[in-house]
Amino acid sequence: MQWLYGMTRQTLREWLERQGEPAYRAEQIFQWLYKKRVGSIAEMTNLSRNLRDLLAQEFAMGTLAVVRKQVSQKDGTTKFLFALHDGDTIETVIMRHDYGISVCVSTQVGCKMGCKFCASTLGGLIRNLHAGEIVEQLVYCQRLLDTAGERVSSVVLMGSGEPLDNYDAAMGFVDIVTDAGGLMIGQRHITVSTVGLIPAIRRLADERRGVTLAVSLHAADDETRSRMMPVNKAYNIATLMEACQYYFRVTGRRISFEYALINGHNDSLDDARRLAELLRPIPCHVNLIPVNYVPERNLVRTPARQIQAFADELGKLGQTATVRREMGADIAAACGQLRAEHSGERSG
Ligand code: SAH
Repeated sequence: MQWLYGMTRQTLREWLERQGEPAYRAEQIFQWLYKKRVGSIAEMTNLSRNLRDLLAQEFAMGTLAVVRKQVSQKDGTTKFLFALHDGDTIETVIMRHDYGISVCVSTQVGCKMGCKFCASTLGGLIRNLHAGEIVEQLVYCQRLLDTAGERVSSVVLMGSGEPLDNYDAAMGFVDIVTDAGGLMIGQRHITVSTVGLIPAIRRLADERRGVTLAVSLHAADDETRSRMMPVNKAYNIATLMEACQYYFRVTGRRISFEYALINGHNDSLDDARRLAELLRPIPCHVNLIPVNYVPERNLVRTPARQIQAFADELGKLGQTATVRREMGADIAAACGQLRAEHSGERSG
């Protein structure tokens, strides 16, 4: 199966040429998909019937079906549980900030990274998403926002899955949504979040894509990090820091470090000092996240006052940090929670 939303303008052009069609039809199709945002090939009325039939035979489009949609009464955060064509489910979230609207997309069904605090990894990795399935999540959200004249201004690859473990599809997504003939999301408005797969971080740097790299750090020493994130046994903190420095040197882009605070695990003032020391050589920003409670995990978040003390300690040591505002707390917005609930309902 091929996904129409998974085609870059270039691959579409090549396909058209093979069909004996002029290459500029790729621009027309991109306009329908990403500017007019039609929902079907049949609506692409400036293409011949013959070409539309050919496209419909070759490509799938509109493969996501909403299983559940939740809208936060507090902050307008909208969360979707989508069924893919094969019945697997993924989550996508629209978030409203004072600087604009961001969409959080999934890159895999489930995840194999095994982080101890994360709901997405509970059932392991089911499968990679195709680039088209990642793009369609964004188009779906933009189409919804169109009804209110609103526009997605940034995208985070922070839904379920490890984007750098599905590298080609994740980068296919970046290429398609940044295309000037399409959605025109700026590279720097795309954040790729990773557990820290080092060869892939270096490859991302070498390809000079200019996306924002977010690294899920969550601990400043190997013992604690290995306990929380099995990936740390393969790529420890020292090698991760080297890769981050390399990323900064090559791209000039400041790194974002994610740090989820878990009561009694990684949230002491000593932890804050170790973190500031570790990050001193790297131009970066720290996002402190009150850990989201996952019933299966039984981890408790750090009290708000202690989170503030942690942030203040970082600040005193010259490390900029922000406490991430909680979005959609009333609608199970934590990673993978909706999907976990849904599969619980199906098996239970
Ligand atoms: N695999 C990638 C991207 C998906 S997870 C990564 O690990 O970065 C997106 C972010 O949510 C990561 O920083 C992850 O560590 C964090 N996260 C996962 N479970 C969480 C929880 N229960 N509470 C808070 N943050 C969580």
